[in-house]
Amino acid sequence: MQAADLRSIQDRLAAQFGRIRVEERFDPVTQFVGSFLGSRTYDQVSRNALAKLMRRYPVWDALADAPEADIEAVITGVKYPEKKAPDLKRALRKIRALMGAINLDFLADWPVEEGLSWLEQNHGVGRKIAAATLNFSSLRKPAFVVDTHVLRVLRRFDFVGANALAENAYDAVMAAADGFDADDLFELHWHLKGLGQEACPHERPRCVSCPLSDICLQRVEEGARMVMRVSDCVA
Ligand code: SF4
Repeated sequence: MQAADLRSIQDRLAAQFGRIRVEERFDPVTQFVGSFLGSRTYDQVSRNALAKLMRRYPVWDALADAPEADIEAVITGVKYPEKKAPDLKRALRKIRALMGAINLDFLADWPVEEGLSWLEQNHGVGRKIAAATLNFSSLRKPAFVVDTHVLRVLRRFDFVGANALAENAYDAVMAAADGFDADDLFELHWHLKGLGQEACPHERPRCVSCPLSDICLQRVEEGARMVMRVSDCVA
């Protein structure tokens, strides 16, 4: 898919849902922690867990030095707290050991691909967390965040193959996003996620109300199948 096509998808979604521009962002470490908690977890649940974590540990050094069982108790409610608690603690300690402080501001000067690779070296950190740290935070770097909703829409749309992984979708969008800045990618993520949650859920997509219905492969194929069924009946 070409950049113009991606832009037209963005414009259709913006026409339907409005433009999204968010000036206030978390600092990169807070976003990193929030995205860590948000893996496979509803947004509201992870937001609550992040708020509890920040109240319990007002500085990130306190979290890095806290017993794992205590962290796990604070973040209870998110998915896999027993894995996230030690992984989070280990990641923060690693940042401190390597950089002298728990601070990710240095990533502002790094190329996106290097920043992603550095973050993904932490256990439990995949492309989604790494890209969210770079794009959603005050770093505002051009990296596209692919979650399960975004991936489902991109697959149905045939933007990526039916078995594509989040990393494949990241590569496909970034390759087609010539001319997109960090804010455009931020908006595209939230629009596609919203579409995946509302019109295009796992079960029974509501294509009739979807702003992409006339250019979506799944929709086009379903339309063709319906025409064939009707003509079978008529014949
Ligand atoms: S047309 Fe249907 S299948 Fe395609 S993206 Fe929209 S809701 Fe999903």
